[in-house]
Amino acid sequence: MSRINPRVLATGYSRYRVVGGSANMMPGCFGSLFQRKQVSAAPRQVSHTQISQPSAVASSTPSGLKCHLLTTCDHSDTDASNWWLHTDAKPPAYSPETDADVKSAIDEKLDEISPQLRKMSLEIHDRPELAFSEFFAHDLLTSFMASHGFTVTKHYLGLDTAFRAEYSHKQGGRVLGINSEYDALKGMGHACGHSLIAVSGCGVALAVKAALETHDIPGKVVLLGTPAEEGGGGKVILLQRGAYEDMDLCVMCHPAPGAIKSANLGTSTAAQDIEVEYAGRSAHAGAAPWEGTNALDAAFLAYSGISVLRQQMRPDHRVHGIVEGNQDWAPNVIPDYAKMHWLVRAPTSAMLAAFVERVKRCFEAAALATSCEIKMKLAPPYFDLNQNQALGQEFSDVVRRRYGMTTNGTAGYASTDFGNVSYALPALHPGYAIPTEPNGGNHTIGFARAAATQAAHDATMLVTKGLAHTGFRALSNDDFYKQVRASFKA
Ligand SMILES: [Zn+2]
Ligand SMILES: [Zn+2]
Repeated sequence: MSRINPRVLATGYSRYRVVGGSANMMPGCFGSLFQRKQVSAAPRQVSHTQISQPSAVASSTPSGLKCHLLTTCDHSDTDASNWWLHTDAKPPAYSPETDADVKSAIDEKLDEISPQLRKMSLEIHDRPELAFSEFFAHDLLTSFMASHGFTVTKHYLGLDTAFRAEYSHKQGGRVLGINSEYDALKGMGHACGHSLIAVSGCGVALAVKAALETHDIPGKVVLLGTPAEEGGGGKVILLQRGAYEDMDLCVMCHPAPGAIKSANLGTSTAAQDIEVEYAGRSAHAGAAPWEGTNALDAAFLAYSGISVLRQQMRPDHRVHGIVEGNQDWAPNVIPDYAKMHWLVRAPTSAMLAAFVERVKRCFEAAALATSCEIKMKLAPPYFDLNQNQALGQEFSDVVRRRYGMTTNGTAGYASTDFGNVSYALPALHPGYAIPTEPNGGNHTIGFARAAATQAAHDATMLVTKGLAHTGFRALSNDDFYKQVRASFKA
């Protein structure tokens, strides 16, 4: 067992911090995982097979954000030129392992079921389903888990496409939670790679089950099938309904562009979904426009107001939206209705709440200027990711040592409903690189193509192994789990 350098453990990587969601959200999750500057996750031990690393030092970025460095902050992934591209895509080699337990039950199980997981991933990829309509994926994944000895509850907690699959070895022990996502994007298919996340969750669950049996460790594994991450906040609903209450920790992963064989343990942004409706009065646009109240004008002014606000916005904040329109619009009729859908993002929930107030004023001002009625609907926000440091350090150590991966702690500008989970219990959500096309990051057609490649599957399997090792350690090692609890900050 490697020795922990307490200094690195304390500062290995961190997060911006703090708080902040659910129905009808379109926070869209994990694009640009490798953007916002943060902190490097250092290996907690320098092995003789690795390049020696100087000890950790701390400095500040110009914006005052604390940045704990090795030699320098590892921002290699901020440069798209370092992305792992299809043109140089080779399936990542399974690096020779130096540990005594060369072939663990976890690795053996995942090597054994990898072809089945690959087949399921492609089946889900070929049948993209939107939020709360993921019936094919729900049925496929639940029948797979049941056939591998898990007790399955379909349509879990009132959500048609959620499920719970659990397995216990002996009595007592801790409970490892795992999340699978499987929703797709409108018109783009699996452009966020949730088909990979779906099978990764199954893989972690089956691998940890095998390890519990092999080492005769008491414990429970719970895989939650969580619908509607791109819009709807499935995890937030499941959290509110108690799905996570018996878990001692929870893990999942997410693909993104990045350097070859890299994983990211940085945080994400908190996000607020806002639907805005304007109601006016129709009139003949030529004969009597003065009799009308133009709802499209209100939407136009709101869009313009937010564009002006953007000049005063902090660089780590985001606001973006669309006009959803109305099928009845015609150029010769003053539009009496307009609907917009916006997303507001900021590093923390506190910063998000303040920024949302400024954005709301733009909506209200447009209603005032046009004499339209306004209705705003704010969904519960998505929190930023509160990555558990002890879990992150262990994962980083495992994937570096066993699989020759690199890890970094670069914070991203995407958002996930797993952020809310991460403030409820110790949790880990690594991003990891799959080979992509230039400009083919998350939420592009190119990324949907990337998610179907063998190399993307192989990268997913490495991260799945890393998560399984990390989760199993939390179940089997009391001292480690104490560290996990100690580093949990709700
Ligand atoms: Zn996603
Ligand atoms: Zn997404």
